[in-house]
Amino acid sequence: MPAESTQPPFLVFGAPQVDEAEIDEVVACLRSGWLGTGPRVAQFERDFAAWRRVQPAQVAAVNSCTAALHVSMVAAGIEPGGEVVTTPLTFCATVNAILHAGLTPVLADVDPHTQNIDPDAIEAAITPRTRAILPVHFAGRPCAMDRIMAIAGKHGLAVIEDCAHAVETEFRGRPAGTFGDFGCYSFYVTKNVTTGEGGMIVGRSEAHVARAKVLALHGMSKDAWHRFGDAGYRHYQVVECGFKYNMMDLQAAIGLHQLARVEENWRRRRWLWQRYDEAFADLPLGLPEPPEPDTRHGHHLYTVMIDEDRCGIARDAFLDAMNAARIGTGVHYLSIPEHPYYRQRFGWTPERWPHAMRLGRQTVSLPLSPALSDADAERVIAAVRGLVGG
Ligand SMILES: *Cc1c(COP(=O)(O)O)cnc(C)c1O
Repeated sequence: MPAESTQPPFLVFGAPQVDEAEIDEVVACLRSGWLGTGPRVAQFERDFAAWRRVQPAQVAAVNSCTAALHVSMVAAGIEPGGEVVTTPLTFCATVNAILHAGLTPVLADVDPHTQNIDPDAIEAAITPRTRAILPVHFAGRPCAMDRIMAIAGKHGLAVIEDCAHAVETEFRGRPAGTFGDFGCYSFYVTKNVTTGEGGMIVGRSEAHVARAKVLALHGMSKDAWHRFGDAGYRHYQVVECGFKYNMMDLQAAIGLHQLARVEENWRRRRWLWQRYDEAFADLPLGLPEPPEPDTRHGHHLYTVMIDEDRCGIARDAFLDAMNAARIGTGVHYLSIPEHPYYRQRFGWTPERWPHAMRLGRQTVSLPLSPALSDADAERVIAAVRGLVGG
């Protein structure tokens, strides 16, 4: 046997938790011959609406959260040329979607404790050209939606919530994604509910959601389900220049069963989170703040801060050492102005958003998948303690 066979298996960061139910549903979908947008997408939309406690006409399934963000900004009627205030501590898709909508991103720094966009920084970033605020519920922790909605109300701004980490998140008893004009969810493979690739739009206005649906399928007034059903051929009309952002039944087949286990998987991640908190309490690591009272944290990411002076190891060396211990980790995120494209296009430098810069240079996300066994979690703990002097 090769020597590698004695190594422990590699713990894949963000590994999905897939059951027989999804596998059987995908097979049934394939056997049905209906792979594209059809009855399983419709069912997934109804189930998701019930989960977020909104009407079925307030949701639209799409093929990614990036698509959801883009189409939401178009459907909200935000005129190209306006500015959108967002966080520098996010995935590039948040900012790219703003650019694809013909809008200009303006960054407002995060609160160093919550890692969420700071409402005071939003206020300071508002100009006469500001049209919208795009908060990200980072790691599953809800943003201060009371303050953000008050600022939006005062200045007449739209609010698009990036809920990619926040399928389970609530702020004062209300689901994240239902405060703003739109909430945009991700079902990417590492997210809390996955369809492989996929996304969902939740909108306050049924008319805006109906427009988002038209835009997500070429701008056609009738979708393919109606066109190719048994009701006879129906002409479709193109009423706008739309996009190709629809979700397939094959994707919804996975999502239906993932969503049915959303609560069970959340409880498992919360348990892992608490286990890490307890196991790392005596280490010189920065640990995530506890969830704020009267909120529900989505527990999507468990992020620790590696300050080289305190921990005796640099962040990137820590990442390499975890990899050598066959444990996959993540970085969420290098701040947006660290990337050359945005620096060149906007002249941004990371120092202008110092909290996001420091967090992005120190942060490491540890495995938090519900697919992790107790023994896997103990392996992660032992590796971390071995590196930062436990
Ligand atoms: C994953 C992610 C996205 C993009 O989601 P996709 O479904 O992959 O398009 C957007 N914003 C944040 C904060 C994310 O983590």
